[in-house]
Amino acid sequence: MPADRILILGGTREARELASLLTAEGRSVITSLAGVTRAPALPPGEVRFGGFGGPEGLLSYLRREGFALVVDATHPFAARMSANAHKASAAAGLPLLRLERPPWQPGPNDRWVPAETVAAAAAALPAGARVLLTIGRKEVAPFFARADLSGIARMIEETAEPLPPNWSLLMERAPFSVAYERKLLADNAVTWLVTKNAGGSETEAKLVAARELGLPVIMVARPPKPKAVIQASAGEMAAEIRRFLSP
Ligand code: NAP
Repeated sequence: MPADRILILGGTREARELASLLTAEGRSVITSLAGVTRAPALPPGEVRFGGFGGPEGLLSYLRREGFALVVDATHPFAARMSANAHKASAAAGLPLLRLERPPWQPGPNDRWVPAETVAAAAAALPAGARVLLTIGRKEVAPFFARADLSGIARMIEETAEPLPPNWSLLMERAPFSVAYERKLLADNAVTWLVTKNAGGSETEAKLVAARELGLPVIMVARPPKPKAVIQASAGEMAAEIRRFLSP
């Protein structure tokens, strides 16, 4: 087994970019994916699928596979995986680095309403709001439970929640253009955009479109994650890894 094997906890575009950079440098990389997306975009290098079985399962995996370091490149909202990675890598005595894109920041013409959680976002919407909901498929229930709300819930794969008659599902994957997002909001008479503060350029166009149309946005804040060495881009992370692994 190579001495400087790297585990990337993936599921993001940055994780794929990092795997490309590291494999191009000739490093041995395994990317781990949760296995919840039917046709995930695959990175170069080795890929494994599915959960580890909590922090204990990840610890056994780390010990068994013999890594030099772990890179948590999961989505900013994947809080459980990041917490597990922190616990398990500390117990295994392995360095943990986090690749985390910066959050979006509001500009002078933005009308953002902050929300700490998705449930708080649902509660903050005014009566009768017509919503473009872009928070993924797992946490739509509090929005669907409010009979006064209507709109479009956009996600990559279908939600298990029953769809109320005043909502429609839009299944599509980023990136989207500003023109596309503007038309989607205008054609559907959307009055509120609800999104998680994912950051990154791939899904940013909706914020530009909302700004142009003067629409308010409920911005769900990122969950807290354990302390780690953080780099914002794959290139910066590859350089950090070179520093870590150079003799
Ligand atoms: P989560 O709530 O933090 O994790 C739930 C469980 O899924 C973890 O405890 C772990 O299971 C498993 N898991 C998560 N990421 C994994 C990975 N990279 N490799 C192996 N197992 C993983 O995560 P989530 O929010 O459901 O996200 C799941 C995946 O989708 C992540 O890889 C994330 O990067 C990606 N993603 C998430 C979002 C989002 O909005 N949350 C958006 C885009 C992409 P065990 O405890 O059994 O190990």
